Amino acid sequence: MKSLVAFLIILVFILLDSCMTTKRMNVMFASVNNNVCRRLTGKVVVYAIFVDSKETKPWTDYDIKTTIDSLRKGMDWLELQAEKDSIPLEIQVECNRKNNGIVPIYQEFSKNTLSATLYKKPLFSGVRDIHKWADKVAIEAGKNLPKDTSRVIKSKNKLSDRERLIARLRSIHRTDNIALMYLINNYHTDEISLTLDASSNHNVEYSIVSYKYPSVFTHEFLHLFGAWDLYITPFDSKRKSIKRKKVAMDLFPNEVMAFAYRNIESLEISPFTKYTIGWSKELDQKYANAILGKRLRPVRY
Ligand SMILES: [Zn+2]
Repeated sequence: MKSLVAFLIILVFILLDSCMTTKRMNVMFASVNNNVCRRLTGKVVVYAIFVDSKETKPWTDYDIKTTIDSLRKGMDWLELQAEKDSIPLEIQVECNRKNNGIVPIYQEFSKNTLSATLYKKPLFSGVRDIHKWADKVAIEAGKNLPKDTSRVIKSKNKLSDRERLIARLRSIHRTDNIALMYLINNYHTDEISLTLDASSNHNVEYSIVSYKYPSVFTHEFLHLFGAWDLYITPFDSKRKSIKRKKVAMDLFPNEVMAFAYRNIESLEISPFTKYTIGWSKELDQKYANAILGKRLRPVRY
C-alpha cells in the first residue's frame, strides 16, 4: 500500500469577512465561487494532459487507456453522488491529443521528480518551479488544440501559458468549469499527487496526479473545486491542526478527502466537503466547531 502522500497546498485558506469584535467570526472559504473551478455543478470538462519525463515511466498506450478508464470511473462516481444530492453535474473527460492520438508531452521537473522539486529549498521555490513546468506543458498542449477562429478575441491568442490554455478550452467546450490535470506515470513508484492554487485569486488551479486510482483522481479533482484535505498532511505540524484532522477522520470515516487510496465504491463525500465544493449552502456549526474551531462561523452562500 502506498503511503498517503497526496495533499493540497492552500496558501490562503479562508477570507475573513468580519472583524474580531463579534464573539464568532463569520468566514467564507476562498475556494467557493472563485478562480476557474468555481462550484462543482453543471457541465465540467476535465482536461487531462499526459506528461513524460526522464524519472517517470514512459506512458504506453496500455497505461494511457487504463488511466483514462480510471479517471472516468472516478468521475462517474462523482456524478452519482451529485445525483443523490439533486445537484446537476455532467463531467466530460477530454485529453490533449495530437493527430487524433494521445502523444505525451515531454517536460522535465527542475529537480527530476515532482516531490524533489516541491520540497526544494528555500521553501516555496519548488512551487514556483512546478508552476513553470505546468506553464511549459500548457504551451505545448495549446499547440495541439484546433486553431482559434473566435472573432470575439481581438488580440492574437498565443496560448502563452495555462491561462491561455484555459481560455481556449472554455471557448472550445463552452463551459467555464475546466479542471486542468497533468498526469505523470508513477504508478510503480512512491510519489505524490498534488493540487496547486485552488484558493488563488489570480493563478489557474491545477492538479498533478501520479497514480491511476479512481479515488485519487476524485480527491484531486475535488481539491480543484475547493475541497480540503481531511487527513493529516506533512503541513499539519501544529498539535491543534493535527487534533482537528483526527476529529474529522473520526467524524467522516469514509470521506474521500481523508482516505484517498481506498476503493472508490467504499467512499463518501462528507457534509464538510459538500460545503467546500458548493453542494450545500451552509455548514452545520457542529462540523465547523470540530474542524475549524468554535470561533469561526462559515457563512451561508
Ligand atoms: Zn489532498
